[in-house]
Amino acid sequence: MVQKKKQRGQLIVLSGPSGVGKSTVISELLSERKDIYFSVSFTTRQPRVGEADGVNYNFVTREQFEEMIARDELLEYAEYVHNYYGTSLRVIQEKLAAGIDVLLDIEVQGAAKVREKCPEAILIFIIPPSFEELSRRLHRRATDAEDVIQGRLCKAKEECKQIPQYDYLVVNDTVSEAAGEIISILTAESCRTRNRINLVEGV
Ligand code: 5GP
Repeated sequence: MVQKKKQRGQLIVLSGPSGVGKSTVISELLSERKDIYFSVSFTTRQPRVGEADGVNYNFVTREQFEEMIARDELLEYAEYVHNYYGTSLRVIQEKLAAGIDVLLDIEVQGAAKVREKCPEAILIFIIPPSFEELSRRLHRRATDAEDVIQGRLCKAKEECKQIPQYDYLVVNDTVSEAAGEIISILTAESCRTRNRINLVEGV
């Protein structure tokens, strides 16, 4: 009855306002689910203290990024706070075809493009317990100037208007609970009939 045919990987999109703690939740998730491939995006923004090229992002110039757009090498890209951010198409295609789940940490415009191109992608939005808490987290992070923080808070409110386009909403109250909920979502998604029907002979 059951065949051992490998299913295609799942494309997982995680969005959420800057400062919500997405990176920490992602680290926790990846330490639990080592089989997931985290897609390292390309960006034209400057590296922050502690960020490494090829690890957090592939840091490129505007010219290099625009060449990638012209060559149609990106699954999606967006301009966010005066910088480009984008996802390599080739890497994602290779991993999914090999049956590997791929995680994208991208903002709302990019997520909408992924939804258009890959309707089966799983879209998850992470919110803070409140905007007051988000403000506290952005100040605690202390990597940005006050005007940048205020800009990010305004942007966060704008981004939250896109929540209805997401399949799942996770509140990052504690990192372990948020990561746990995402693991549960992924487990349930992998059991969807459409993802498993090719395992069954004669249906
Ligand atoms: P940050 O500058 O704080 O690292 O990221 C700013 C925003 O860009 C975050 O919301 C992050 O999810 C998003 N982002 C990172 N990589 C990509 C990408 O490849 N594509 C898109 N559309 N957004 C991205």
